[in-house]
Amino acid sequence: MQLYIRRIATMLRNRKGAASVEFVTILPLVLLISMAVWQFAIFSLAIMDTHSAIRDAIKVASVTGDVKTARKEGISSFGKSNAYKLKKLSVKVNHGEVTVSANTNIPIIFVNSKAFTYSSDSDAPVLNNVAASYGFGSSSGRHGGAFLNGAALPGGKLAAPIHAAPGVGINGYSGHTGQDFPAPIGTNIFAAESGRVLKVVNLGDRSYGTYIVIDHGGGIQTLYAHMYDDQPVVHAGQSVTRGQKIGESGNNGNSSGPHLHFEVRIGGHPVDPMPFLR
Ligand SMILES: [Zn+2]
Repeated sequence: MQLYIRRIATMLRNRKGAASVEFVTILPLVLLISMAVWQFAIFSLAIMDTHSAIRDAIKVASVTGDVKTARKEGISSFGKSNAYKLKKLSVKVNHGEVTVSANTNIPIIFVNSKAFTYSSDSDAPVLNNVAASYGFGSSSGRHGGAFLNGAALPGGKLAAPIHAAPGVGINGYSGHTGQDFPAPIGTNIFAAESGRVLKVVNLGDRSYGTYIVIDHGGGIQTLYAHMYDDQPVVHAGQSVTRGQKIGESGNNGNSSGPHLHFEVRIGGHPVDPMPFLR
């Protein structure tokens, strides 16, 4: 009996020993694996952000030829991360060709002082520089050709924002920043391109009335104005697809008759929407 108890006691003692060995070996292993997973996640996110910075900088530079705005858009598309840093983003326009290159510093979490630098670059032709011909952007890279030949916006040209004939254009009167489409109140308004609804603003019976701004990325936005506040069917932050109904036309705000006021903005500047729609 005594021998039996002693044997059990030994077994328990051994088991206890074995358990602490397990704890000592497995805990660092778990830590090591989680660090590796974390490092991998940082790498993936940094590479994704680097590529969106390059993509959007290329998009703006190829549409506008404006190197400064393109760089700004690229940096804002990269976003802000505490884990890694955009070290360099260069946008160059040379002989009708945009080249964007980026360097991103990714710290190695196992080694405190070391950082890995991820580099990537891409190039694209500068499209017909319509933005420069509207009086902004640099004139470099202007070389003719069809504007919006499909490279600048996904899906090519913009889709019709409303099924109505165009009325007063951007040059119709001083200070007019868009294209008007006269249409009966309640006519459907569609997203001209896929994107994210940046804002739905209600100015009451002033100015644009109730209006929607959609951000298509790469510094390109569209604006739809003169709705009544109950007419938008989308909200800020919502993703919309090209051709999706976003609201109905009204006669609200500073409007002389029922119509849709439609704007295309590149890098914040309104340009003539008509070349995008033909
Ligand atoms: Zn208008």
